[in-house]
Amino acid sequence: MSLTDATVTTLLAKLQSGETSSTEVTEACLARIDSQDTDVGAFLHVDREGALLRATQVDEKRKNGEPIGPLAGLPVAVKDVVCTTGMPTTCASRMLETFQPPYDAGATERLLAADAVIVGKTNLDEFAMGSSNENSAYHVTRNPWDLTRSPGGSSGGSAAAVAAQMVPLSIGSDTGGSIRQPAAFCGVVGLKPTYGRVSRYGLVAYASSLDQIGPFATDVTGVATLLEVLAGYDQRDSTCIDADVPKYRETVDKPIDGLRIGVVPEHFEEGLHPDVNKAIRNALDVYKAAGASIVDIELPHSKYVVAVYYLVAPSEASGNLARYDGVHYGYRAEEAQNLIPMYSASRGQGFGDEVKRRIMLGTYALSSGYYDAYYLKALKVRRLIRQDFDTAFADVDVIASPVAPTPAFKLGELIDNPLEMYLSDIYTLGANLAGIPGISIPAGLSDDGLPIGLQLLARPFEEERLLRAARMFESATDWHTKRAVLNHD
Ligand code: GLN
Repeated sequence: MSLTDATVTTLLAKLQSGETSSTEVTEACLARIDSQDTDVGAFLHVDREGALLRATQVDEKRKNGEPIGPLAGLPVAVKDVVCTTGMPTTCASRMLETFQPPYDAGATERLLAADAVIVGKTNLDEFAMGSSNENSAYHVTRNPWDLTRSPGGSSGGSAAAVAAQMVPLSIGSDTGGSIRQPAAFCGVVGLKPTYGRVSRYGLVAYASSLDQIGPFATDVTGVATLLEVLAGYDQRDSTCIDADVPKYRETVDKPIDGLRIGVVPEHFEEGLHPDVNKAIRNALDVYKAAGASIVDIELPHSKYVVAVYYLVAPSEASGNLARYDGVHYGYRAEEAQNLIPMYSASRGQGFGDEVKRRIMLGTYALSSGYYDAYYLKALKVRRLIRQDFDTAFADVDVIASPVAPTPAFKLGELIDNPLEMYLSDIYTLGANLAGIPGISIPAGLSDDGLPIGLQLLARPFEEERLLRAARMFESATDWHTKRAVLNHD
């Protein structure tokens, strides 16, 4: 077995025993990036020298008997919305093409403090707006399982990088499903933590009341390992909660006795691809066989999640993206002679179509006369959506559903139909609107051989339970061991 085939747990054991070194693992990942990424396009930037230098430093520390952090020199890829010094942070936008942040994000600091090796920055939909990676201003990322298909979005680059075994770990951000949906499309594990669990300091803001940073890996234990590193208080993010971080990695293998899984019957009706339906039903049978009970629950307001999200997120985006004015930093149009034309030209040229669409939608929903009818109404319904979850979680430990209505769609299939694209987020948006944690785990393959994800949701700050429930399924199945086979493997 080569180093790039190994799980996080195996790699950590090999590093600890001295069977391999961080330099060897990093070199193996860089070689894999060389052989795969021309086709996949997961990376926007690879920091070859920086990664090798850092790997040598971690190896040196180990040789000198100094304490080593929990990531012990493992290579990690970072979505290009998370600030990293010494590398660009473009948000896959022309607007930030030349931006080099002068500081590290809280998540970046934690990775480095845990002795991770950051190998590069991954592709995404511009400013994390999208579900397919086709909104990147630079290039599209392709699904390693089928290069004609989307890896999902917006963290498609981070999911594809792990799926194609270019890195054992990566981080993404999830505002409406951007970790879970690409994880499902690429056949890896991805977790969106509770709102407030991971610092967003240095995460370029899209929709601030929804954004969270979270981990990807090929298995649940890998995700537990990285979440333990990322989670924790940071006073620089005022929404970050000062609560103890459980030892996710230590408890992940403990099954939950009498696990109660809530299921919404309507989730299996209209619009659900038959292969996804079958895989999720099989997954529920696996849980039953493991002693869990399946309980029908109601989330009466879940039919409004798409409408509410696509008012709240663009409204917040229109405010957050106002800072890109061509003056402070970022792209500035050359030709304009005066201030207002300069603003318009810089924003007109610097932003892509989807970002402009969202800014316009949000500005409209917040404008006087429409604020009460759209934005305020959406906030009220958002509260009801959260209450639905609170009520449901009185009776169940986790809620299970598909992650997306279909397996990975073809590149180009939905791009001209924004409404259809937005509807594909139907199962993931609720967790962001309610602020609760969610995970996507590999749960089957379609008839075409494409991965299918199972979503589990839990109460706020119950990532530990979520991971244990996910691991119960994983340990009873082998879907997580299936890998994308690229033509030139
Ligand atoms: N697909 C959703 C959107 O387009 C979610 C994106 C995300 O989570 N960043 O907004």
